Formats: sequence, C-alpha cells, structure tokens
Amino acid sequence: MSKTHLGHTARKRFGQNFLHDDYVIGNIVNAINPQEGENLVEIGPGLGALTDPVCEEVSKLTVVELDRDLADRLRHHPFHGTKLTIVEQDALKLDFTDLLEQMPNPKGKLRVFGNLPYNISTPLMFHLFSFSSHVHDMHFMLQKEVVNRLAAAPGSKSYGRLSVMAQYYCTVIPVLHVPPEAFKPPPKVDSAVVRLIPHSAPPVALKSVPLLEKVCAAAFNQRRKTIRNSLKDYVSEEELGQLDLSATARAETLSLADFAAIANFVAERDEVA
Ligand code: SAM
Repeated sequence: MSKTHLGHTARKRFGQNFLHDDYVIGNIVNAINPQEGENLVEIGPGLGALTDPVCEEVSKLTVVELDRDLADRLRHHPFHGTKLTIVEQDALKLDFTDLLEQMPNPKGKLRVFGNLPYNISTPLMFHLFSFSSHVHDMHFMLQKEVVNRLAAAPGSKSYGRLSVMAQYYCTVIPVLHVPPEAFKPPPKVDSAVVRLIPHSAPPVALKSVPLLEKVCAAAFNQRRKTIRNSLKDYVSEEELGQLDLSATARAETLSLADFAAIANFVAERDEVA
C-alpha cells in the first residue's frame, strides 16, 4: 500500500494516516456539526480531509499542525487558505487558554476535533482535560481500543485507569467505528470516533486530582490483585471497611465515586496526621 497521498509521503513519526473515505469523512463532520461563529480548532489537519468539509460550513477555523510541510501546504490552500488560522506547533505544548483569546468568540468555549496521531492521543487528551473549563466538546478519531477504554464501565474488561480519569473530566460518547481501509496508509488497528463533553461541574468532589491518579495507577497496575494488596501503600483493610469497600474487591469493580472516596480519605487522613 502506497504511503503517498495527494503528493505527500506519510511520516510515521507524526502518526500520519490520512482519511480518504468520503462517506466516513461525511459522518465525522456530521457528528462534529460545525456552526458559524464557533471557536473551532482542528488538531492535525494534515492534507485537509476534515478541514475542507468543515471550511465548507464556516468562515473561520484554527488548525494546529506540527509538520512544517503540511502547515505550508495549508497556508497556500487554494480555496480555504483565508479561512484558516494556522498554528504550526506541537499540540501537546499548546496553551489552549491563549488560543481561545484569538478565537471568533473569546468569551465562549473551544470546540476541538481531530484525527489524532495515535502515538500521542492519550497525553494529548490529558493535556486538553487540563483546559476542560474552556472546552465545550471534543471529537477525536482514536484507536478503537482506546475509545472502548475511555467509555468502559466498572466490571468490563476495558475498564481501567483511563476510564476513571476520562470520566472524571468528561461524558464519553462513542460515535462511529472506522475501519483501517478508510485511511492511507491504513493503520494496523481499527479506529473509532469519540465525543468528549467536559462536565460543567465535576461528578465527584475531589481534594486532589493527582492523588486520584496515583490511587488508580496503583489499583490497576495490579488489577488481578485484591485492593487490600494493590492499595496497601494507601489504605489499610480496616480503613477500606470504614469506606464500606470490600478489601477483597478488585480495581475493575470500583466506580469513580469509590476511587474518589479512597483518594479523599487518604488526603484528609494525611492532612490531619
Ligand atoms: N486530519 C488528517 C486526516 O484526517 O487525514 C490527518 C490525520 S493524521 C492521523 C495526524 C496529523 O497530526 C498529521 O497531519 C500530523 O502531521 C499531525 N501531528 C502529529 N503530531 C502532532 C502534534 N504533536 N501536534 C500537532 N499536529 C500533529
């Protein structure tokens, strides 16, 4: 399978798999539903598979592209060049609050979308979660397995640290399954589009997000073990009892509220101690 699409040879280090299936592209743009006047931001526009149809709908779109050649191509785009604000930068390092200042409606929120490079998709989502109060919604193409993990409920095989942390920040809605053939070159795995809607208020009150992350990491790093063992550096069996949690439970059966209760208990206990 050729790695060249529209005269550009895909660069593996930038996670370049370009969408070329018009039906799939149409479904993604329908899911995003871009409207005039919105603060639209695309991460990784590449050769414009999503950029072009979105620009058909609106007069302004900000795109963040790390590949210098692709950013240059977009700058000279024959039809939509004037609609685009091109940020030639690593999206992982971008301050999205600063970006909002330059948007059509700086008092509003961002609508972020992209067919993400799979090698950076999880850190990029977490980077964006740190700006979630400025984000209305996000639509991302990800590995299907990652979408399953983001959306998983307690008790399911895919449920883990990513599910708990993502669901702390957002409502997670899987939107569309996308097969490898929709891309050039085709990736080795199935893909899916997910909609992430940041909560207006957190679903659980937390004293410390980093502590929730640490407790989840400890519990899921040893997911076969009971929480009495995997969380022994954080809580004793007796303390789990005080929280109404069974010491013989495994991480995969605990809800976000349970993890938050453990993290808050540890924070309070250590504050007092
Ligand atoms: N949107 C296009 C499409 O659907 O065909 C391209 C998608 S391709 C999977 C990922 C795009 O993200 C590429 O254009 C790549 O150069 C760009 N990219 C990779 N790493 C990036 C980063 N850290 N920040 C911004 N863009 C990045």
